[in-house]
Amino acid sequence: MKKRNFLKLITYTLISLSAIPFSILYAQNTKKILNKNLSEEQKKIMFEEDTEKPYSSDLNYETREGFYHCANCGVKLFASNSKFDSGTGWPSFTDALPGAFKTKVDYSFGMKRTEYHCAKCGAHHGHVFNDGPSKSGKRYCNNGLCLIFIPKDI
Ligand SMILES: [Zn+2]
Repeated sequence: MKKRNFLKLITYTLISLSAIPFSILYAQNTKKILNKNLSEEQKKIMFEEDTEKPYSSDLNYETREGFYHCANCGVKLFASNSKFDSGTGWPSFTDALPGAFKTKVDYSFGMKRTEYHCAKCGAHHGHVFNDGPSKSGKRYCNNGLCLIFIPKDI
């Protein structure tokens, strides 16, 4: 083997080896605390898949026009026109904004449910059910603590 080719091979090997830790790091970074001001309760819900008490969120009563954003990364998740009163005690929506969430099947508490999390930061937000009142048939049951509402007028 020529010396130059050998050096090339070593270089490529080093590059590919050094890329491995980055790929592991990247996978972990999909679930990350970005908002340093999150409360302990918010962190528990968003990163340990806990659930807030029903009727505890003021957002249950929010009826203004605007958008609901992720409390961790700030991305827009729901528009106010998809919000409805489900009577469950959690802010509920018939539709999420396109690409806002990723879902995963959750078998905790002996139930098969579909958990959804923010596509941008990985924070858990709630569960989605197929008994919604609109055309979509969806009911996004969201922890109010995971959301920040920004009215249209601001
Ligand atoms: Zn987020």
